[in-house]
Order: sequence, then structure tokens, then C-alpha cells
Amino acid sequence: MSHDVTPSPCTRCGACCASFRVSFYWADAASHGLAEDCYEALTPVMACMKGTYSKAPRCTALSGQIGQQVACTVYEHRPGPCRELQAGDDKCRLARQRHGLPPLLPASSKLVPHEPRQSHP
Ligand code: SF4
Ligand code: SF4
Repeated sequence: MSHDVTPSPCTRCGACCASFRVSFYWADAASHGLAEDCYEALTPVMACMKGTYSKAPRCTALSGQIGQQVACTVYEHRPGPCRELQAGDDKCRLARQRHGLPPLLPASSKLVPHEPRQSHP
């Protein structure tokens, strides 16, 4: 059996963690075991990752330097929107553009639909 050990482009990016408000139904946090100090209330039923409800969003759970080396420090517990975003999709392209990064090549975006962050160090 062969194993693809190609590094994910996401470990050298992180742009989508610093481009959008990451909001979700409040119960999503508990269902994924996300610690309460990682998110804040938006409405009585909606919450968002701390740091993302800002004109210059950056999730406080992201460590590292955008476009260099990054890691999601709560990867196993990240909320739904972080699981849904796929490397190479429209939000990815927009986020990378905002941070002056080129779009992913088709070959690299096929690597791992969002598994990338799993290997964020
Ligand atoms: S999904 Fe796209 S924008 Fe997000 S970290 Fe990966 S390559 Fe960067
Ligand atoms: S929880 Fe992790 S994957 Fe989601 S925005 Fe924050 S750093 Fe990015």
C-alpha cells in the first residue's frame, strides 16, 4: 500500500483562519468538544471563534505566521465551518487572495480536502 506523504499546502497557509468570521450554531461547539474560552457568543443561538468577529479577523486558535507555517491548536475540536471549508474551494481562493497568496494549483488542492489542518504543527 502506498501512502501520500506530500505536505498539505494548508500547513504553510492559514489564510482562511484569518479572513472570515467563523460562526456556528452554539451547540456545534459542545458537540465537537471545543473549549468555551475559544469562542464567544454572537446571538443567543450563534457563536463565533474568538478573533474572527473583527475587521481584521484572525482566529485566536491559529498559531504561526500566515503564509509561512501555521497550526490550528484546536484541530480535533474545530467547529463545523472549519470542517466544511475545502482547500482549493472559493473561500480558500478568496482567503489566499486577501493575504497575497496565489490560488492553489489543482494538483495540490486535490491532496486533502481539509485534512490539511490536521498537520498544522
Ligand atoms: S483551506 Fe486554503 S486558505 Fe485555508 S489554510 Fe488551506 S490553503 Fe489556506
Ligand atoms: S478553529 Fe482552527 S481551523 Fe478553525 S478558524 Fe480557528 S485556527 Fe482555523
